[in-house]
Amino acid sequence: MAEGDSLVRVARKLEPAMLGREIAAASALNPRSSLRQHAGRLEGRQVERIETRGKHLLIHLDGGLSLHSHLGMNGGWRVDTGRGFGKPDRSAWLLLELAGDKKDDAKAGDPGGASPGGKRTGSRVAQFGGTTLRLVRTVELARDSRLASLGPDILAPDFDLEAAVSRLRTSPDQVGVALLDQKIICGIGNIFKSEACFEAKVDPWKPAASLATGPGEEGEAERLLETARHQMLAAVETGKRPGRIYKKTGRPCSRCRAARVRSRGQGVDNRTTYWCQNCQS
Ligand SMILES: [Zn+2]
Repeated sequence: MAEGDSLVRVARKLEPAMLGREIAAASALNPRSSLRQHAGRLEGRQVERIETRGKHLLIHLDGGLSLHSHLGMNGGWRVDTGRGFGKPDRSAWLLLELAGDKKDDAKAGDPGGASPGGKRTGSRVAQFGGTTLRLVRTVELARDSRLASLGPDILAPDFDLEAAVSRLRTSPDQVGVALLDQKIICGIGNIFKSEACFEAKVDPWKPAASLATGPGEEGEAERLLETARHQMLAAVETGKRPGRIYKKTGRPCSRCRAARVRSRGQGVDNRTTYWCQNCQS
C-alpha cells in the first residue's frame, strides 16, 4: 500500500534507472491509461529530478514537463531488471525505455564490459495501475489543487514538528481521521496511523484538538508525530513496517498483554483502525 515511506522507496528505486537519462521510447498501451495519446511527447526528454510529496510522485523532465503519479492502493512502479516487469508490457499505464547514461556507456566501451552497443546499460521502467498518471507543464503543478492543499510532508528533511502539531490540533476530527487527512500532514496512510498511535500510546478515537502538547512526556501530539516520522523513516531504510498492531485483531496486545487488539472502521471513509483499549488512553 502506498504510504509516504513506500513512495520514497519508489523514488530511490527509479533514480538509478532514470536520473540524467534520456527517454528513448515511451508507450502507454493500456486502454485505461490517460497517457495513451500523449506518450510520444515524452520521447527525447531527459529525466532531471524525481520528487515525492506525501503520496504523490513527481518526475521532472527537461523542457518544463513533469509526470505526476499517484499509486492509490494498488498501483506500482516497476523497474525491469532484465527479466521483464512480471506483468505484460501492454498492461502498463506507461512504459519508458531510457538510454544508457554516459558513465555506463564509458563502462560499456571497456574491454570485458557490457554487451556490444551498450544495450545492457539502458533501462526500462513502468507504472502499472494507480489513481493518477498525467503529463503536465511543471509550472502547472503549483496550481494543482491536490498538491497545493497538501500539509507538511511527514518525511521531509525539513519537517517542522511544531508547525505540524498545531495543524493537527486544529482538526475537528478524531486523531485516527486527522492523521489520514493529507491537508493536515501528508504521507501517513492507514498502516502508520494505527502503528504510530499504538507506539505513542495515543487513543486514536479522541479528538485531535484534545491532544496534549508541550515538552517531554506531556507532549502527546509531539510524541505521536515524532513516532510516526521515526517509524516511517526506518521503513524507508529497511522496507519493513512495524507490524505491532495493524491487522492483529483479536490477538493479545504485544505491549500490555492484558487486552486483545480491537479494530473498527473510523471516519466517513470507514478506514479500519487497530488499537488496544488498555494501553492507548
Ligand atoms: Zn495494550
